[in-house]
Amino acid sequence: MNNSNSDCIFCKIVKGEIPCHKIYEDEDFLAFLDIHPETPGHTLIITKKHFKTMLDLPEDLLCKIIKKVQKITKVVLDITGYKAFNLVVNTGKDAGQLVDHVHFHIIPRIEGDDRKFYIPPIKYKNKQEIKKLATKIKNSL
Ligand code: AMP
Ligand code: ZN
Repeated sequence: MNNSNSDCIFCKIVKGEIPCHKIYEDEDFLAFLDIHPETPGHTLIITKKHFKTMLDLPEDLLCKIIKKVQKITKVVLDITGYKAFNLVVNTGKDAGQLVDHVHFHIIPRIEGDDRKFYIPPIKYKNKQEIKKLATKIKNSL
């Protein structure tokens, strides 16, 4: 069952076994402030059920969570006075996912906050390589 994972820190938060600074809760989702915030108001939105990544989410929950993300972001920005934000969904260990329970980060941003979320671009070998890749992906969608 996907419901809960006894080793998962976010499942423990859902069950109330670990405290959090909760800002929102409904039958499907929980949102709370990140314990190691990048900026003030850094928020995590999680599903109550244990899914490892957003790729594992059933479509209805995925649609619902993105709507919650929008709703909660507007309020977080309003309250903190920030106007910009990064929506971050680290997915997989190689992408920096430390907690294997799907979560969306809302990270308020403001000029001069000195936070860095910049990944320097790579270069394709040539135009053929990017064209071939685009065609392959397009044909599989
Ligand atoms: P990620 O690298 O995307 O898996 O991010 C996991 C996030 O969870 C990090 O930003 C942590 O600071 C945050 N985190 C871990 N434990 C807790 C906790 N008990 N309460 C709030 N946030 C947490
Ligand atoms: Zn979990």
